[in-house]
Amino acid sequence: MCADKKNNGPGYLWSVFHHKCSRCRTGRMFKVKNAYHLKHFMKMYDRCPACTQYFEIEPGFYYGTAYISYAITVALSVATFIGWWLLLGFSLEDNSVLKWIVSNMIVLILIQPYLMRLSRAIWLSFFVPYNANWQTEKPEDPERM
Ligand SMILES: [Zn+2]
Repeated sequence: MCADKKNNGPGYLWSVFHHKCSRCRTGRMFKVKNAYHLKHFMKMYDRCPACTQYFEIEPGFYYGTAYISYAITVALSVATFIGWWLLLGFSLEDNSVLKWIVSNMIVLILIQPYLMRLSRAIWLSFFVPYNANWQTEKPEDPERM
């Protein structure tokens, strides 16, 4: 029984940051590898190329990623605010707050394609847990009308 708990698969964080299927952590979720290939960067496989897990579990499944994206954006903004405060400081006598807002906005816009993919990978991982026996066990088919 203890051997069942041993997990030799890729780690959760690695798979999420590399946009891998949360069930097998090896199959890619997106058809285009580069997140900055802006014309096709959000095109996903219907099923995982490695374990055949459905990626769209139900219609509109990925609407919930807005919450993930929002939380990451707020966390990054807080981090850049604290970083700016510690390294450069804020003052009411100069435009340091405005400079931080503009800098933060530019950073968030530049990383947005990656963040959108990351949010989907995190969202999928909430509903599809890792299965160490993914090579032998079939994934559950989603309920379809
Ligand atoms: Zn998979």
